[in-house]
Amino acid sequence: MPNNKSFFKFCPNCQSEDFTFDNLVRFHCKACDFTYYHTIAAAVAVIFRTENKILFTVRNVDPDKGKLDLPGGFIDSGENAEAAACREIKEELGITIQPNQLRYITTSPNNYLYKNIPYRTMDIFYEVKLGASIAIDFAEDEIEEVVWMETDKIDLEKIGFVSVRNVIEEYYFD
Ligand SMILES: [Zn+2]
Repeated sequence: MPNNKSFFKFCPNCQSEDFTFDNLVRFHCKACDFTYYHTIAAAVAVIFRTENKILFTVRNVDPDKGKLDLPGGFIDSGENAEAAACREIKEELGITIQPNQLRYITTSPNNYLYKNIPYRTMDIFYEVKLGASIAIDFAEDEIEEVVWMETDKIDLEKIGFVSVRNVIEEYYFD
């Protein structure tokens, strides 16, 4: 029987309810052997940094609407992580950056609940050194505002995603 956390009610192949979905990773239908892996997705996040400040976005969409976030997003199929970071920065902030400006920091796992489907991601963090005076033309459908925060004044509780919170706390919080 499906456990009550499953986001599938029936097998997508044969409509049977006789399936397992252990840890919401491996879906297996006992009736027809249909198997589906709800694997983790790769995403990028970019930390724009000046001497003592970090750029945060305020999310304008769920999940975590109103919370602090970093610019970034999911990596497209066939795209590498650096290209995804440059594309997302252009889309979200209107800033053109090059792959060689990205300094790899670390990776951190995240949970991303979207329309009640729990996606899991591996977020790849890059840092870019930037002057705070740069013009930012952010995407208002995704971002409410952008804020530069001094690293000793960041309120970690206002950061929505656990991956972002953990990386900021470990690598940047004074
Ligand atoms: Zn089936």
